[in-house]
Amino acid sequence: QVSLQGITRHFGNVTAIKDITFDIPDRQFWVLVGPSGCGKSTILRTIAGLESISSGKLYLGNRLVNNVPSRQRDVAMVFQNYALYPHMSVGENLAFGLKMRGEDKQKIAKRVQEVARSLDIEHLLKRKPKQLSGGQQQRVALGRAIARKPQVFLLDEPLSNLDAQLRDDTRVELKQLHQRLQITTVYVTHDQVEAMTLADRVVVLHDGQVQQIGSPQAIYASPINSMVAGFLGNPP
Ligand code: ATP
Ligand code: MG
Repeated sequence: QVSLQGITRHFGNVTAIKDITFDIPDRQFWVLVGPSGCGKSTILRTIAGLESISSGKLYLGNRLVNNVPSRQRDVAMVFQNYALYPHMSVGENLAFGLKMRGEDKQKIAKRVQEVARSLDIEHLLKRKPKQLSGGQQQRVALGRAIARKPQVFLLDEPLSNLDAQLRDDTRVELKQLHQRLQITTVYVTHDQVEAMTLADRVVVLHDGQVQQIGSPQAIYASPINSMVAGFLGNPP
């Protein structure tokens, strides 16, 4: 599981996140929501090892990873602006992480085919990123992240650059992908529909602190305050 125990991160005199505590069981899909600046990206980056921790403990499985560098954590992260490697083909982008890990050629080719099939981008493997639509590029970015079967999958507003139709389609695909692969996922969004349809649990944040954690239905039905209600529910 992913276990955050009292995680705090200061930037100078700004406290970006304060005493964040929750445990994500294996295979679950958790969604972080809250106003701009509430600390969502900082939490993801902390799990990824891209931010250091001021205090608290972070476990991935049974391993305390506070001081483990990002590349030695078995996590993959996808950002809003999903930068693919522009000079590489789609196939090479998908293979990149596996190559870095020194996997053998045959195994890489097989895995690339699997991932491409599951995201419906098999016919695009030879193209360069700039020859793809936004939605296709985003699917490649997702594929690149999952190709090496990470223990934890981190997504920071991955659909926010897509138009409404594509966002709906990709959201449904993401859900299916998660059901198939069962990778523990932490997902940041501003979008209520994404939170409601994707999450096993929603974490509502405000000012760097946890306001409420629950299933989307539970939070929708009984938000603890008007801030939470504003994000995900019936105003009380
Ligand atoms: P958004 O929805 O706008 O992406 P967020 O919830 O992801 O917001 P964070 O990026 O985690 O918010 O930022 C949390 C707080 O920490 C903000 O007040 C932000 O200004 C501050 N912060 C984040 N990174 C840094 C940094 N490198 N240096 C200083 N302050 C930072
Ligand atoms: Mg952010």
